[in-house]
Amino acid sequence: MDLNTLYRTVIMDNYKNPKNKGLKKTDDFHFVHLNNPSCGDDMNVEIKIENGIVTEVNHDGHGCSICCSSASVMSDVVKGHNVEEALALCNDFYEMVKGEEPKDEEALGEAIAYMGVRDFPARIKCATLAWKAVEQAIREVMTDGNK
Ligand code: ZN
Repeated sequence: MDLNTLYRTVIMDNYKNPKNKGLKKTDDFHFVHLNNPSCGDDMNVEIKIENGIVTEVNHDGHGCSICCSSASVMSDVVKGHNVEEALALCNDFYEMVKGEEPKDEEALGEAIAYMGVRDFPARIKCATLAWKAVEQAIREVMTDGNK
């Protein structure tokens, strides 16, 4: 199996069997909704932060396979990290899909599968939508607390 086939498999697996899909919407979660009008992607992300650690990340939305699968991968990659690490992972992901070498390939895990998006600039917004949503959620919690 070549690398591109492996990457495509990661994307299709996460599209068909998304991890952490479905929102709880309880008071201890912080919720962010973002959309990507250029593709029609619509993404909801909620996070729970406890003692500076992102302990839960859930998502729900609809859109293309790149967007929805990326939300699944993002939730799995970000969960369990402290807020600084989580923001660094988001930034690493943005830089990677724009063509930079990832700083922490191991921490990005399955997210490495989206490296090929750099060859399709129109899809960058699809791949990053859920990551932008989780980044915004973390920043809002850091500013305002879990509200
Ligand atoms: Zn899309």
